[in-house]
Amino acid sequence: QSIHKDLEEKIARFHQREDAILYASCFDANAGIFEALLTPEDAVLSDELNHASIIDGIRLCKANKYRYKHMDMQDLEAKLQDAQKHRLRLVATDGAFSMDGDIAPLREICQLAQKYDALVFIDECHATGFLGPNGRGTDELLGVMDKVTIINSTLGKALGGAAGGYTTGPKPLIDLLRQRSRPYLFSNSLPPAVVGCASKALDLLMDSNAIAQSMAAKTQRFRSKMTAAGFTISGKDHPICPVMLGDARLAAVMAEDMLSRGIYVIGFSYPVVPKGKARIRVQISAVHSDEDIDRCVEAFTEVGQKHGALP
Ligand code: PLP
Repeated sequence: QSIHKDLEEKIARFHQREDAILYASCFDANAGIFEALLTPEDAVLSDELNHASIIDGIRLCKANKYRYKHMDMQDLEAKLQDAQKHRLRLVATDGAFSMDGDIAPLREICQLAQKYDALVFIDECHATGFLGPNGRGTDELLGVMDKVTIINSTLGKALGGAAGGYTTGPKPLIDLLRQRSRPYLFSNSLPPAVVGCASKALDLLMDSNAIAQSMAAKTQRFRSKMTAAGFTISGKDHPICPVMLGDARLAAVMAEDMLSRGIYVIGFSYPVVPKGKARIRVQISAVHSDEDIDRCVEAFTEVGQKHGALP
């Protein structure tokens, strides 16, 4: 419908790209892109900790596959050198990695891509709407908006619409996806109500950068107060704040105790994260007030002391 076309145009404008295509989810966008774009003559180079949907999308394509060590630029360079024998090279990475809250070194990735004539693909599910001075994402945060070729992202996380995904990038690529991308061709499009929500969320972000700016300040408040209280928070400057606890049982009982105090945080342990790296993942949201954040830190401190995570 025309509202879908309007939303695609708005997404492209938001990311300062030529065009965009909507999917029912970002999982679908990731499932559809690699197979449509890459042939057996091409190569895809993927960070080993990329999201499951990128991994599955890459499995569906017949390109030559390289997996580089997480955010390891030496390893990526070695793999790019090896991949010179192929027709086209695509580096694929999450912009921000949700389990650790760490941000891909996009400047370095784009430099390597330029040196070895590769395209760059980023999955911005954990960046769209709040990273960067105007919430455009990791490419804006790191000053490489003009160097990243393709962005896939979701409408269902920070944009709050609960579903929907998209690809945005060069117009010929989007035209190709409309003809060849299987999850686009063979699945329903987004329900109109979801389109309406996402469209409004983008309006709010494009009208003013107040929301994006407040996210950075709130994230900083939580991370610095938790660190001062004695906790270890993984990652840097990301509103996903994994409180590292190590022990799976400790993470589970502390998360339960936090919930009983009215604070909804999730414990993660093996096999979702490596053994011995259990954590409670806290997500800062634009609707949290400073008081909410302070109350959360106080609750963590009490619960941490009770269960022996803090002295
Ligand atoms: N990519 C990443 C990095 C994600 O974290 C997720 C969701 O967990 C997805 C893709 C899938 O997004 P969606 O829920 O829109 O299918």
